[in-house]
Amino acid sequence: MQDVFGRTITYLRVSVTDKCDFRCFYCMAEDMTFLPRQDLLSIEELDAVCSRFVERGVTKIRITGGEPLVRRGVMDLMQKLSRHRQSGALRELTLTTNGSQLAKHAAELKALGVERINVSLDTLDPDTFRRITRLGEIRAVLDGLDAAAAAGLKVKINTVALRGVNDGEISAMLAWCGERGFDMTLIETMPLGDIGGERVDNYLPLAKVRETLTRDWTLTPSGHATGGPSKYFDIAETGRRIGFITPLSDHFCDACNRMRLTCTGDLYMCLGQDDRVNLRDALRGPDGAAGLDRAIDRALAAKPRGHDFQIEPGDAGPSVHRHMNVTGG
Ligand code: SAM
Ligand code: SF4
Repeated sequence: MQDVFGRTITYLRVSVTDKCDFRCFYCMAEDMTFLPRQDLLSIEELDAVCSRFVERGVTKIRITGGEPLVRRGVMDLMQKLSRHRQSGALRELTLTTNGSQLAKHAAELKALGVERINVSLDTLDPDTFRRITRLGEIRAVLDGLDAAAAAGLKVKINTVALRGVNDGEISAMLAWCGERGFDMTLIETMPLGDIGGERVDNYLPLAKVRETLTRDWTLTPSGHATGGPSKYFDIAETGRRIGFITPLSDHFCDACNRMRLTCTGDLYMCLGQDDRVNLRDALRGPDGAAGLDRAIDRALAAKPRGHDFQIEPGDAGPSVHRHMNVTGG
């Protein structure tokens, strides 16, 4: 699958639910309304769409949300998708999770061919954790991480850098990750969705964070690349890696290899734009697989060259109106 700029699409991110058991303040408003169940693609439909993408050349699928592990039937979906791991068509089947339900599922995920997962954790302090997530208990996440490590899953910690919230503990978190053999990725806040507050107050440019980290750590640019927006550095002291996702301060679109499917079957061609093609209607339409292919082709033809995020001091609203839990980052 190639888009009009010659980029090959090999990576599909799938948000299996918009629901979450946390309400991270940079991601959601406190009083979010979630989609009614009947609007969601069924597990069978999610499998059908993912499998068509695999047949057409996708080699990596990331399951996300909302919180993917709170979607009923998500492990059935993982089980179904694992056949593409067994056949070798899928090189990677992975997951981004807040970790709250991970203790229950880590071993089964590993058994189904998941090698590595991303777990979001913005702080190690229980009070700050509660302040950020509004509903979360850090203990459950730490237990989930222990279970993941015990199951042999490789873990990358995703941390959103938040001025005035966790900027003082990023270096300590890097040390903590090093002790546990976890990589870490720092993320800048992105202007997605109305969160009932000013995001710019917490916006922390990662260039600044990197500069501060170099006082404690020896960071050298790493050869590791994913085609995504992360720039990786090797950390001499821990032997692990740190990635910096800077969609606001850098352009990363030239090598973009991905598309994003939502739980309602909308296919977004770019995280930073609102254009989308609905695959649910195609899937449920009279033409079945042929209709689905035509819809995917329309999306390929419409994939934009790049995003146009902006986060300026005094900006009244988000650049993109959907929340991060719709497409899952
Ligand atoms: N619930 C899962 C989790 O938290 O990992 C998966 C979905 S969550 C939307 C995916 C990632 O997006 C998380 O690492 C989260 O911290 C990040 N995220 C959410 N809203 C964001 C925003 N406005 N800017 C930057 N990152 C955001
Ligand atoms: Fe939920 Fe993840 Fe959004 Fe936090 S970042 S509210 S855990 S979807």
